[in-house]
Amino acid sequence: MKILKTIEEIKAFAGEMSKAGKKIGLVPTMGALHEGHLTLMREARKECEIVIASVFVNPTQFGPNEDYDAYPRKFEEDCQKLEQEGIDAVFHPEPEIMYPQGYLTYVNVDGDITNKLCGARRPGHFRGVATVVTKLFNLSRATDAYFGQKDAQQVVVVRRFVEDLNIPVRIHMVPIVREESGLARSSRNMYLSSEEREAALVLSRSLKKAETAFAGGEKDTSALKKLVREELAGEKLAEIDYVELYSFPALQELAKVDQPALLAIAVKIGKTRLIDNVILGSER
Ligand code: AMP
Repeated sequence: MKILKTIEEIKAFAGEMSKAGKKIGLVPTMGALHEGHLTLMREARKECEIVIASVFVNPTQFGPNEDYDAYPRKFEEDCQKLEQEGIDAVFHPEPEIMYPQGYLTYVNVDGDITNKLCGARRPGHFRGVATVVTKLFNLSRATDAYFGQKDAQQVVVVRRFVEDLNIPVRIHMVPIVREESGLARSSRNMYLSSEEREAALVLSRSLKKAETAFAGGEKDTSALKKLVREELAGEKLAEIDYVELYSFPALQELAKVDQPALLAIAVKIGKTRLIDNVILGSER
């Protein structure tokens, strides 16, 4: 596996692969890799001749009071995992490589898909995401890129700017990978104490309740959100950030779930903010 750290290195590698007409899959990550990430890698590996992973804790997508400094960095372990998955190259730049002195350009997705959910709670987050992902698309010459449903709003945002900016890449969304307990895999689960980890099961449990009610015929948005809120309220370590339900992928208000819809939650367990979601009313 090639380890690429500079713009020149990734440009040379991707340029050569692109010239040879290869199908190039990109899997952007912030590292501290777990089964969720590795599932994205496997999808990419199945479908693409060349797979490039990126491991970059992107400073521009963190707010000033967020966990940029504390975010786990485990590059050596990550490389071992990527090697085992047969990944061709990993791009691991320093922040100054991506944002050198004099850097001034950002990609901003306006309007209804970024003004709610994590977009409302984390100002500037999606601007940082859209900017770094655009740069990664350009550098990697990706024909295909793989993202997790875990960050469903991110998928919506990426698909939007890819279409708006005419970027020639296909975006794939991979379902959420969970532990047996139901807990969605996340690099941030590392922050949890054992008591908090137990408490964190309330996220998936609350979504499951709503999913079951939906399958049983409950289509009312408020009633479904209420079920989730009630379950979350039963866990004293859980503090709700949001419980929302919008049409998916348009992210529009819905009174009744009469089309595919995203039921998404953000919950603080102690100091750790976790997110989870389910898509109601679709095959997945
Ligand atoms: P991150 O390193 O947290 O930025 O995540 C990198 C990519 O992995 C994003 O597209 C995430 O949505 C995806 N991802 C993270 N956790 C999971 C999971 N549990 N299941 C599926 N995809 C995931």
